[in-house]
Amino acid sequence: MSGNYPAAETLRDFMFEMIDQSPDRLAVVAIPAGDDPDELEALAIAGFDLAKAERPDLGVKLAPGLDPTGSEALLMQVHEHRWVGGQCLHGCGEDRPVDAEPEAA
Ligand SMILES: [Zn+2]
Repeated sequence: MSGNYPAAETLRDFMFEMIDQSPDRLAVVAIPAGDDPDELEALAIAGFDLAKAERPDLGVKLAPGLDPTGSEALLMQVHEHRWVGGQCLHGCGEDRPVDAEPEAA
């Protein structure tokens, strides 16, 4: 790491904080630009992997920021899946068997 980015653990904790504060369990985290664009994406992925290890029901999407060279180089939309009829309410495209839902049956 170049030292220009936060640690992946910091990013994970920030994601949890944002999700926990959100009524719909969805957060958009902007990661500012640093020295190395490749490292930016690696940080996002490492942070998400750490988060997913603790909360397996997380989904993520990455998108370029609105200000690619400034405070929003990369946007991460992170959410906790909300399953209804085997599909996630957030429209992330993930699905799972309906019989996996604890409230079904
Ligand atoms: Zn989802």
